[in-house]
Amino acid sequence: MRSCGAVPLRTSVVAILILAIVATTQGQDSSPATPLTLVSRDGRRTVPTSLQAGREVVALDDVANLFQVSVKEDALAGGVTVSYRGRTIVASANRPMASVEGRVVSLPSPVVRAGRRWLVPIEFLSVALASIYDQRIELRRTSRLLIVGDVRLPRVTALVESPGPPTRASIDIAPSTAVAVNAEPGRLTVRIDADGLDFTPANAGGLIDRIRPGDQPNTIVVTLTDAAGTARSTVTTENNVARVLIEVPAGAASESRAPSPEVRPPTPESPTAVPDPRAALAAIRTWQTIVIDPGHGGDDVGVRGAKGAEEKQLTLDIARRLRTMVENRLGLRVILTRDDDRAIALDQRAAVANNGKANLLISLHVNGALVPEQAGAEIFHLQLDRESAEVVRVATAEGTALPTLGGGTRRLDLIPWDLAQARHLDESSVLASVLQEELQRQIPMSTSPVRQAPMRLLAAANMPAALIEVAYLTNPEQEARLNSDDFKTVVAQAVFSAIVRFRAWSEESQTP
Ligand SMILES: [Zn+2]
Repeated sequence: MRSCGAVPLRTSVVAILILAIVATTQGQDSSPATPLTLVSRDGRRTVPTSLQAGREVVALDDVANLFQVSVKEDALAGGVTVSYRGRTIVASANRPMASVEGRVVSLPSPVVRAGRRWLVPIEFLSVALASIYDQRIELRRTSRLLIVGDVRLPRVTALVESPGPPTRASIDIAPSTAVAVNAEPGRLTVRIDADGLDFTPANAGGLIDRIRPGDQPNTIVVTLTDAAGTARSTVTTENNVARVLIEVPAGAASESRAPSPEVRPPTPESPTAVPDPRAALAAIRTWQTIVIDPGHGGDDVGVRGAKGAEEKQLTLDIARRLRTMVENRLGLRVILTRDDDRAIALDQRAAVANNGKANLLISLHVNGALVPEQAGAEIFHLQLDRESAEVVRVATAEGTALPTLGGGTRRLDLIPWDLAQARHLDESSVLASVLQEELQRQIPMSTSPVRQAPMRLLAAANMPAALIEVAYLTNPEQEARLNSDDFKTVVAQAVFSAIVRFRAWSEESQTP
């Protein structure tokens, strides 16, 4: 029996009108803290950008120099034309869109004129220019990189998973590529078959002193403390992510330096096939924010264990651990739907995620059952019934453009609040299977761990979303484990690893 989360989906649909109105905001120019770096076969160059009304913009003059495109003012259209080898982009002033070879694309902010210069949001490069250019142009906002052409720059995320001893750490490389690890006394050098690395350094811990970029652009060095023995490593590959698992024992200097072929058993391939990333949504979204929802709170205690543990406290505890990991290691903004002991309605939780424009929603719960034997984690993603699916189809077709005073149009989207998740069902299914794979490495799973259910919170989430029932609080053994710090940290780490992999898949799937 599930005690929580599975509130039936209402069949009546409240349509919420979301008006996307072009706001004319005045902002002072300033420069972003870190410059944008263009990486190509020819090397690295800094791309000058500035902030305009809170949005990062680049001058078309600079774009013309960097990409050898021609820029012409179009007096007739009241805008600007960008051409490259006979292909053109036309952008009208003060509208958040451009016409690329006759096809309209949305931009996050309008193309504006500032004195003699035209300024475009930096996404113009990856959304509009990339469509007429003869090389790949990929913007990675978080790591401040603009990748041009056939440059292999995998995303590398390091994580000390447990301080030990033995200290365990992992280095994820996405997309997957060949990796070689060389162990020497006091350090490991990880050599990755790539032109460079998009590397997020990790906080060290235990017997690991630092995980830092190496001397070559494609190497990472893991330095060990004086108390460390000889590190062992193994490399696994799964879902287009290569993972280096490192184990550092405490130790005697006389220990054998031969690397062990295996630190952990190899991970079995998931029974759930992950769809071709390129078949996913074409919309360009760069990850900035995730929302973690600690279930229950306030008067709503959730499940209570025989020894008195409460679901509402456990979910908040795990959520806070996960927030720290994601903020420190991925640099993403993390919003908790609650950061204290208060009751919040399910719709309000979904609104926090939707208003925060989160790229991901993960709701944390602890399960309860009538029989104490029931145990193991479960992951839920949304199931849409046929009636709801039809409502979504009609509502989507009604999305329309309205004329406005003074000419032009504004877009009007009819989004049925209950069913915002309809656009993200496939992504959420991938998310659920990645969560399953990462959790099952670390904690007991129920006999059918991935499930679909019509849950209201998930239905209203306008982003990939999943709900995790971490364990059964009604099982005495699981209650005891849930009370330990170790277990809560392990759960947070497993969900963190899943977030890293899902983000890599999600961003990879947007590469044209
Ligand atoms: Zn619950």
